[in-house]
Amino acid sequence: MEKIITRFPPSPSGYLHVGGARTALFNWLHARHTGGKFILRIEDTDTERSTQASVDAILEALEWLGIDWDEGPYFQSKRVDIHKGYIQKMLESGHAYYCTCSPEKVDAMRKEATAKGGKPRYDGTCREKGLPRTDNAVVRFKTPVAGTTIVEDVIKGNIVFQNSELDDFIIQRSDGMPIYNLAVVVDDITMNINTVIRGDDHVNNTPKQILLYKALGEPLPAFGHVPMVLGKDRTRLSKRHGAMSVTAYRDMGYLPDAFINYLVRLGWSFGDQEFFTRNELIEKFTLKNIGKAAGIFDQDKLLALNADHIKQTPPDKLSGYLIPLLKERGVVAKQGDYIEHVIKTLDTRSKTLLEMADGALFYYQEKVTFDEKAAKKFLTASALDPLKLLAEKLEQLDDLTEKSQEGAFKAVMDETGIKFGKIAQPVRVALTGKTVSPGIFEIIEVLGKDRVVRRLMDAIQFINELL
Ligand code: GLU
Repeated sequence: MEKIITRFPPSPSGYLHVGGARTALFNWLHARHTGGKFILRIEDTDTERSTQASVDAILEALEWLGIDWDEGPYFQSKRVDIHKGYIQKMLESGHAYYCTCSPEKVDAMRKEATAKGGKPRYDGTCREKGLPRTDNAVVRFKTPVAGTTIVEDVIKGNIVFQNSELDDFIIQRSDGMPIYNLAVVVDDITMNINTVIRGDDHVNNTPKQILLYKALGEPLPAFGHVPMVLGKDRTRLSKRHGAMSVTAYRDMGYLPDAFINYLVRLGWSFGDQEFFTRNELIEKFTLKNIGKAAGIFDQDKLLALNADHIKQTPPDKLSGYLIPLLKERGVVAKQGDYIEHVIKTLDTRSKTLLEMADGALFYYQEKVTFDEKAAKKFLTASALDPLKLLAEKLEQLDDLTEKSQEGAFKAVMDETGIKFGKIAQPVRVALTGKTVSPGIFEIIEVLGKDRVVRRLMDAIQFINELL
């Protein structure tokens, strides 16, 4: 079978948003699943709206998502000569013609057509005139007057367009610049793209593009138009429904693998499976499982999926994400056993990496900062004896396993007559500064004897200073 070649051609007029990222992902997965190729092309011919900042933002977002490209980025604006060459070909073959009708005249024609109950269209005044190139002339495509153009959509099925409704659309402006539909087709042809998956907001461009392929004698790619992503209220996704830019989710502590897992499920399914690793997606993704219904973006579901991915990701991988976040919080953490143990106490309790970073801070503090309320409630005179005794007992242990700690706690309980619950909270505050944390035994094991004993002593001193 022919090698699949897909593409993602964003217009750089803003950040990469959720819908665009999903389109990129579908094309990337289709290429990866089939062992094909994925090409990145920046459609920057609209010079007023395109910015370098947007190009950078889009590349950064794709990199974060782990959507890598085999070719490109190509820049459409650098390919204008190629586009013009194809326009010339169509002029020569009689598939296109120069038109000198003024914009006002065309406007009047369109109004007239609408008044007669038809679609606004160019009436073909210059179609058969064989005009030469002149300064203000545009180039129009000679759309067949009769018949139909059928988009054989791999997602939506056949969509039939009447050629009579398409009119002789412009392919080159009077300033010589090729028009969008022409540029897309020429780029897709010259990049050997054979599969075009894009948002269904482009579906009305497709019959025009198909006519251009045919006029150029080029084989058609497979087209698939993906339904929109909507908010929970079923309106077009906007800021109201949550962050729009993909990198905002990175900044909120989402894992790229969780994010692509969520994105893919906004329009693609594999039975009722919700959780997919990246490799599983590559293995299982097929175009035929893209659905016809709009995807509904639900931040709560995304968050739950992120929590699942955090749970399933090995600690030595999570540490790579966590270390920079700790650095932002003033903590220098290194790869190695300690951080991995820290992560193991937090991965089932953290919905985002930010939560995990905040939760990990106490493990790294030289001196624990006590939460004011927690200290007031638990670091009191009555906690002195159990804290002292526990420090002594733990000091005597060689190894702080769960089992050996249990013995130490039991001895403290026996000697003081205080129940575990009443001992555990002051210990927790002493070790973490807070009243909520991973399990006491886990924390003690990770912190290790020296840190634990030092923290217990610090808490004892803190209480003594208050007395
Ligand atoms: N540049 C277009 C966009 O960003 C994509 C066009 C296409 O996929 O054919 O919407």
